[in-house]
Amino acid sequence: MGILEVKDVNKRFGGLQALGNVNLSVAENTCHAIIGPNGAGKSTLLNCLVGKLIPDTGSVMFDGQSVLGRTPFEINQMGISRVFQTPEIFGDLTVMENMLIPCFAKRDGSFALHGIRSVFSETGLREQAEQMLEEVNMLDKRHMHAASMSRGDKRRLEMAMCLVQKPKLLLLDEPTAGMARADTNNTIDLLKEIKEKRNITIAIIEHDMHVVFSLAERITVLAQGTPLVEDTPENIKGHPKVKEAYLGE
Ligand code: ADP
Ligand code: MG
Repeated sequence: MGILEVKDVNKRFGGLQALGNVNLSVAENTCHAIIGPNGAGKSTLLNCLVGKLIPDTGSVMFDGQSVLGRTPFEINQMGISRVFQTPEIFGDLTVMENMLIPCFAKRDGSFALHGIRSVFSETGLREQAEQMLEEVNMLDKRHMHAASMSRGDKRRLEMAMCLVQKPKLLLLDEPTAGMARADTNNTIDLLKEIKEKRNITIAIIEHDMHVVFSLAERITVLAQGTPLVEDTPENIKGHPKVKEAYLGE
């Protein structure tokens, strides 16, 4: 039994079957990559895991509990954090302020009872945020406005905003998209380090095969909304169906 169990998930958008009978099992403390051509349904699948979309049929179990019928916030509280395909950070806020938001959301759950100013000045939360920024080598940038950072740093910040919540499952949707090679390699190193240091499971959608083969222990290939094959990186590399459907060979 994996920490994440997706069974027979279907999702239609009008006439389009975006996901058709998707089954996926992600073992605890592993890195599982989901690859496939554009439009294969990868982001849709991720959205179904975090409550942003509701599957038409099927089940999604995380850590023994169903995520279906829960809000994205409740699912986050269960221990799933997610990095989006395009960075979702607050450009007008500083790096530090961005970091405090997930710290606070994880601890208290609601901004309704507190003024935002008090959140930004709480020492306990600041310490958590600083520690995490140190871990991702961004502490020196804590006073910068998030909008003024490089694309690579924005992604790094977003990753730090997820990791500071100490999730059991980290979901990454193309975390190295648009990154220069050096930033991509830094991201690979960071994820390897995080995986060694913590009990964390990672599910990653990624186009860059260098990233996939550097990190993943299992790979699922999705094509037209359906898993084509699931195997180890070694076997995926040489798989004829994968070459045909995805690698274009
Ligand atoms: P991937 O992430 O693998 O590139 P997506 O999951 O984004 O693919 O999309 C799968 C298919 O579903 C695509 O054909 C896409 O156009 C369609 N799709 C995704 N989201 C929506 C939506 N909200 N409404 C309608 N169609 C959608
Ligand atoms: Mg996508």
